[in-house]
Amino acid sequence: TRSPRLVIVSARAPFVRTGSGIVRAPGGLISALLPLMRRSRGTWIATGADREACDTSELPFRVRALALPSEIRSAWYAGASNGALWPLSHGFGEVCRFRAEQARAYFEVCRAAADAAAEYALPGGVVWVHDYQLALVPALLRARRPDLTIGFFWHIPWPASDSLRVLPWASELIEGVLGADLVGLHVPRYVRAFRDALDELGIAYVNDGESIVVPRGARHTRIEAWPIGVDVDGWASLGRDETVAAEAARITADLGGGRVLLSVDRMDYAKGIVERLEAFERLLEQNAEARERVTLVQIGVPSRETVPAYRELRQRIEATVGRIQGRFGGPRRKPVHLFARTFDSTELAAYYLAADAAIVTPKRDGMNLVAFEYVATRPRPNGRLLLSTTAGAADVLTEAHLVNPYDEEGLTSAIEDVALAPETASDIARMAALQARVSQLSVETWASGFLARLEQVTEERVPVR
Ligand code: UDP
Repeated sequence: TRSPRLVIVSARAPFVRTGSGIVRAPGGLISALLPLMRRSRGTWIATGADREACDTSELPFRVRALALPSEIRSAWYAGASNGALWPLSHGFGEVCRFRAEQARAYFEVCRAAADAAAEYALPGGVVWVHDYQLALVPALLRARRPDLTIGFFWHIPWPASDSLRVLPWASELIEGVLGADLVGLHVPRYVRAFRDALDELGIAYVNDGESIVVPRGARHTRIEAWPIGVDVDGWASLGRDETVAAEAARITADLGGGRVLLSVDRMDYAKGIVERLEAFERLLEQNAEARERVTLVQIGVPSRETVPAYRELRQRIEATVGRIQGRFGGPRRKPVHLFARTFDSTELAAYYLAADAAIVTPKRDGMNLVAFEYVATRPRPNGRLLLSTTAGAADVLTEAHLVNPYDEEGLTSAIEDVALAPETASDIARMAALQARVSQLSVETWASGFLARLEQVTEERVPVR
């Protein structure tokens, strides 16, 4: 990047404290941004981080955790972010709770993050703000530092304008985001939803192909689709690793040598885990071959357990798995394996290799990186990907087997097809096409492409007509 001293603002820090010390946080975003940060010798501001995980004295860049009182942190994170904006954006209006005190905490955290960014950014420097937990930062930062180039990426679906109507601070949210020079969303569908929001609020804009340009006085804000990807080389090299392959063979053998289906999700209601388990249960009811030789492995990472909706979900998932086991399990046969913990990437790669099909059927998902990782890990173009039409990934991975996760019978028969249909030349062609697509969309390309575009957009800071 050309940006010296890049400032990144995100809820999560690039490092986390674990039993075995301070380690790099999981996820492709972190692995894509770390090399950029090393080169630019910048500052990473993490609002939700734990201070001890931020000692980076041996690194060429700084990590700064904000000191937030715990009530503020929880009202911002569990309240406004994950109790309101997350369900709103994923179309779960009934789950949303809007409390004034949580909105105040959200504002306060965004203000603190903007102040920290204003303090660390060089004159005329670049700041990249991430995600729905910090959407007011761009405008708050712009007010303090008009000299800066500000990028913002919203990593979840942009809410439908009908949903946005129920958010008491919808116009503050949009105005906050519009403080950026470049706003990134994953797919053109979300850019169209953003355009609806502008229409709804009466904010003027110009269409430029698929992107939107919103004049803001002497400058303008561009809203564009920038589909994120994964660390393609990292996953591919795990997929070629002999110990990973040996572990995959052991998993297949331990599961009885039949067909293996794999799902990997945080335990989140948007992931459609219970609905998928129920669809699998119907398949077992209807199909004797599936009863004998199809196993579903569900990796379910515990998530956001301070939010009530998440605690209830975990209980429902466990109860559904228990019921399926009771109905279809036996002394030597367990049709569903639920692992309620976090796997590291080496363990995940072994499951990706072992799986005959990945079942990625969220009810709504900004992108879904598991779908990409399953494809990227495979050394050969075998296996099938079943993907929800309601995930952002479906707009990019168009050769996947696509399914509407709300269509109960449709979901059952799609699972049946990917589990049991014999492999054909068309399956291999589809996976090969998916692999080509996933390789084009690496997360490194995404990060450097977005930053280059951000600098370009600021250079063209002339009023648009
Ligand atoms: N993941 C992980 N360990 C696990 C399960 C998932 O590290 O046990 C990672 C996975 O490799 C992927 C990310 O978590 O990179 C999940 O991203 P995705 O976009 O699928 O869903 P999100 O959790 O962001 O909603």
